[in-house]
This record gives sequence, structure tokens and C-alpha cells, in this order.
Amino acid sequence: GRKFFVGGNWKCNGTSEEVKKIVSTLNAGEVPSQDVVEVVVSPPFVFLQLVKSLLRPDFHVAAQNCWVKKGGAFTGEVSAEMLVNLGIPWVILGHSERRLILGESNEFVGDKVAYALAQGLKVIACVGETLEQRESGSTMDVVAAQTKAIAERVSDWSNVVLAYEPVWAIGTGKVATPAQAQEVHSELRKWLQVNTSPEVAATIRIIYGGSVSGANCKELAAKPDVDGFLVGGASLKPEFIDIIKSAE
Ligand code: 13P
Repeated sequence: GRKFFVGGNWKCNGTSEEVKKIVSTLNAGEVPSQDVVEVVVSPPFVFLQLVKSLLRPDFHVAAQNCWVKKGGAFTGEVSAEMLVNLGIPWVILGHSERRLILGESNEFVGDKVAYALAQGLKVIACVGETLEQRESGSTMDVVAAQTKAIAERVSDWSNVVLAYEPVWAIGTGKVATPAQAQEVHSELRKWLQVNTSPEVAATIRIIYGGSVSGANCKELAAKPDVDGFLVGGASLKPEFIDIIKSAE
């Protein structure tokens, strides 16, 4: 089976005091063992080392982004090599906030995923449609195109978690229904079966993100193709522990 995966994306939030508080809450949380659930939290770059040094050993850290190729004269960027150097195991790539606000294209995200994997990072790769795209009936075309740009550049998917995050559900309180999430996850898995391999399709974790909360996580987690969550707002709160517990 696919091990349940819960990621906490802290986005651009927190002071060092707040970060320490969140970590101590996480450290005190009673959660299922690492055999049952993989937990990864993603603080802003500047807090990565602090969080890594304080966080319980069964939880891991992720960066929220990294540069598309080898570091060098790219002011303001953080390279995959630097993350590896600091022992950061994971990176989130292609989050919709980077695609839509920072203008990252499917190809650019695909290049980033391939480069980060080649450096030895594990990648949470995000895909998802806007409300307009959903309403025009192009959800599957959009997420397939986003996934295809990765598939064209990546052959080994064993270190990839695919996060389906419909943009209309992010930070809105309008969570996808379990049926809506299941539908896209199952279509994505079928797409992967045809376009990568049956093995990749069967083993890859496809996690859901967008207004996941302690109240709605259980129903979503019960769906067969929902292998976990990428949590934004609720990952900054004690509620994150309840979401981790939905693994069992
Ligand atoms: P919210 O849980 O705040 O809707 O954010 C989801 C998200 O974007 C996680 O990456």
C-alpha cells in the first residue's frame, strides 16, 4: 500500500517565536507511527534550519521552492544544492501561488522537478485548476498538461508525491468534496498509468490540498485515491495533529 503523506505548507508566515511555538505543539502531538504516516512540514527558507534542529525526528522538513538549475548568479534564489547541503530532504515545487503569482510555466516547473530530483531531493509536485478552468470543463486537461510537463522530464517517480490542489479551494474554506477529489485523483492515476507506467501509477502518492481541516480530513482520507494532504492554513494550528491522525 501507499503510505499516507501529510505535508504542512506554512507559506510566507511566521516569526521565529511563532515558528518555535508551532514546532513545540507538533513535537507534543500524539500521532500514528512513521510506518503509517509520513509527515513533512515546510517553513519559509529562513526558518528551515531552526525548524530542522528543533523538530521531532519522525517529522521531516521541506523547502517551498528552489532554483531551476545549478546555483550561481541568480540573485534571490536558493539552489537545490544548498538544500541538499543543509540536509533538507524535501522541496515543494509548482505550487499554484508560484505558478499564478510568480508566473512559473508548466515547463519551468517540470525543469525544476527534474533538476531537484537529480540532486537527490524528494519533491512534492503540485498541480491544480482554477475556478474558471473547472467551470469551463477543462480540469483534467489542465492537470494532465501540468503532469505531462513533469513526465517529459522525469523517469524515476519514486521520490515524487503529486499534490492535487484546486486553486479555488486554496485558502477559501471551499474544500473539494471527497467525490470531487477522488475523481481527479483517480483520473490522474489513470493518466499516469498510460503515460508513465502501471507501477508508477500504483505506487505514487496523490495527495489533496485546499482548505483541508480537522473537520473535513476524515471523509477525504477515506477515498481510495486520496493518499494524504497538503495543508496550508491549518498546518499552522494544533489542528494539524488531527489531520495527521486521519492517516488511520
Ligand atoms: P489551505 O489549506 O490554506 O487552503 O492551503 C492549501 C495549500 O495551498 C497547501 O499547499
